[in-house]
Amino acid sequence: MKFIETRGNDGQHPEKVSFSEAILAPISSFGGIYSPESLPDLGETFLNEQLNSDYKTLARAVLTAFDIDIKAEIIDKALSLYDTFDDPSNPVPVVKVKDDLYVSELWHGPTRAFKDMALQPFGTVLSSIAQDRNEHYLILTATSGDTGPAALETFKNKANVQVACMYPDGGTSDVQRLQMVTEDAANLKVIGVKGDFDDTQNALKHLLASKAFKGTLKEKNILLSAANSVNFGRIIFQTIYHIHSYLELIRQNAIQMGEKVYLNVPSGNFGNALGSYYAMKMGLPVEKILIASNNNNILTKLINTGAYDLRDSSVIPTTSPAMDILKSSNIERIFFDLFGTERTKELMSQLDNDKHYQLSEAELIQIQSIFSADFCDDDEGKKYIKDAFSSGYLMDPHTATCFKAYDTCRDKQLATIVYSTAEWTKFSPVIANALTGEVDAHDIDALKSIAKEAGIEIPAIISGLFDKEITQKVIIEKDEIESEILSFL
Ligand SMILES: *Cc1c(COP(=O)(O)O)cnc(C)c1O
Repeated sequence: MKFIETRGNDGQHPEKVSFSEAILAPISSFGGIYSPESLPDLGETFLNEQLNSDYKTLARAVLTAFDIDIKAEIIDKALSLYDTFDDPSNPVPVVKVKDDLYVSELWHGPTRAFKDMALQPFGTVLSSIAQDRNEHYLILTATSGDTGPAALETFKNKANVQVACMYPDGGTSDVQRLQMVTEDAANLKVIGVKGDFDDTQNALKHLLASKAFKGTLKEKNILLSAANSVNFGRIIFQTIYHIHSYLELIRQNAIQMGEKVYLNVPSGNFGNALGSYYAMKMGLPVEKILIASNNNNILTKLINTGAYDLRDSSVIPTTSPAMDILKSSNIERIFFDLFGTERTKELMSQLDNDKHYQLSEAELIQIQSIFSADFCDDDEGKKYIKDAFSSGYLMDPHTATCFKAYDTCRDKQLATIVYSTAEWTKFSPVIANALTGEVDAHDIDALKSIAKEAGIEIPAIISGLFDKEITQKVIIEKDEIESEILSFL
C-alpha cells in the first residue's frame, strides 16, 4: 500500500511513499499529511474469517491486508507487546455496562491509557526501520499527560532511538508525572518546563521547524522525528480494536454478524475516531460514529453546523485534559477521503490563514451521514461517573463524555460501543470528587478513597510509582529547552 498527501503534491516531495517512509517523514507538500491511497476490504468475508481470532491474530490479518512494507517478524515482535497487557489473551476487554451500552477498555497496557494501544507496537516498528536504514532518530514529544508516559515506555532501551519528552511542570496529574520522572533508561530524557502545555507544544513546534536545530543534529548524525498522533504508524494500530470490539459483541451474543452498531469515541486530536472511520469504510457494519467532546466543543460544532472556527477561542481547562484541544489534526484525513485533495487544501489553508472555514450544505450532509456529536461539561461528566458507579461501573472522566453522547446522539436503539481511554487511576482526584464530594490535592489520597469506596485495590503498577526513585529531575525555563536537549544528546 502507498500513501499520498492530503493537500496534493508540489512536485518536490515524492508523489507516493511507502508505509515506512510515511512514518519517518510525516511532513509533506503544502503542510498536508500522508494518508492511504486506498483501503482494503475488511467486510463480512473478512469478519467471518476472523470471528474467533484472538487480538494478535486479528491484528496480523488487518496489517497484512494493508500490505505495509514491514517484515512479518517485526510485526510479530511489535504485536507481542500486547502480551504485557493485563490479560494477554484479551488485551482489550469489552464489558457490558447497561442495556445496549458496551465499553471497550483500551487502557490495560503499561501506562493505563489508550495511547499504549498504538504507541506500544509503534515503538518496535520505528526502531526496527531505523536499524534497517542504519539511521538514528531523536523523537521529540510534548505531553499534557498521557502521550509522554506511553512514548517513554515504548522507546525505552530501543536501538537507534532517543526520546526527549517535555511536560508542563505542575500541569499533569501526580501519577502521570511519576510515570515519566521515574523512567531511567539511558536513551530517555524527561524535561519539566516552567510553563503550561502550550509552552511545551510551542517549543516542540519551534524545534521541529528549526533549520539550525536540525543542522546541529545532523552533525551528530541524528534525524528528527515526532511520535504525534497524525503519524500513520499510530493510526494503523487504532483501526484494529474497533474491529475487535465488534467481533467481541458477536461472541458475547449481543449482536449478529452484519448488525449495525454505534461506535462512541471520546475525541481530541481525532486519531481514535479516524481509526473508527477507516474501520467503517473498510466494511465494519457501523450505523454512525458518535463523537464525544468536553467543553472544548469545536468538533461538536463542526459536525452539527459545518463551521470550524478558531477565532476568539482558547483552550478551556477541563477534567478530561487529554481532550482539551482546539486544532484536531486528523479531521484533515476525513476531508481528504470524502472531498479530495483540492478541497482539503482549500479548507486547511482557510484555517491557517483566516482561522475558520465553513463546509457546504452538501459536505455537511455527508459528514452527518457518518458522524453525530455532542459535548459533556465537567459537572455533567461527574454525574455520569457517579451514576455509572452506582450501577457498578467505575470510569474515568474522558469515558464519561461518551455516556452523554450515548444519551443524546442515537436515533436507533442499536448496540453501542463506548471506547474507554483511561483507567480510573490516571484521573483519580476528579473521580473521587464525583463519588464522594471530597477535594483531594494529591492523587494518592484520591486513589485510596476510590479504592475504599469501590472495594478494590490500587493496581500495583500505579501504587508502586509512589515508592520509585525519581531519576529525571530536570525542571527548566522555556528558553533552556534546546540547550538541555542538545546536552542530553
Ligand atoms: C489522547 C486521549 C484522548 C483523545 O484521543 P484522540 O485520538 O486524540 O482523539 C482521549 N482520552 C484519553 C484518556 C487520551 O489519552
